[in-house]
Amino acid sequence: MIVCEQLDLEELKVGNIKELKITEMWGSDKALKILNPDPGKLKEPCKSCAYLPRCRTGCFSHTLLYEKNLFAPDPSCWKVHLEKNPLSPLDDANDNVPTDGECC
Ligand code: SF4
Repeated sequence: MIVCEQLDLEELKVGNIKELKITEMWGSDKALKILNPDPGKLKEPCKSCAYLPRCRTGCFSHTLLYEKNLFAPDPSCWKVHLEKNPLSPLDDANDNVPTDGECC
């Protein structure tokens, strides 16, 4: 079983269905570490983001493919985009971006 359905990578494998129950794999230390990143390893803007408990730094496939780090901020996140591109045209729409509530 792989935590991310997009990537067949060893670091995302949490067990074999022929050897373990799904609940054992899903509740394994490895799965929980992937799904609940260590706050000490996080970078801004995720580190102080209100959406972090739900978002968990975004898409695993994006962060691994583009940032080579499972816990890097997802480059497709609007907050990450604004941090990297402060003069982006999206800045004009910044006043309309919700600061709480639902995320992607
Ligand atoms: S990827 Fe974006 S929305 Fe998700 S925790 Fe990081 S900054 Fe927040």
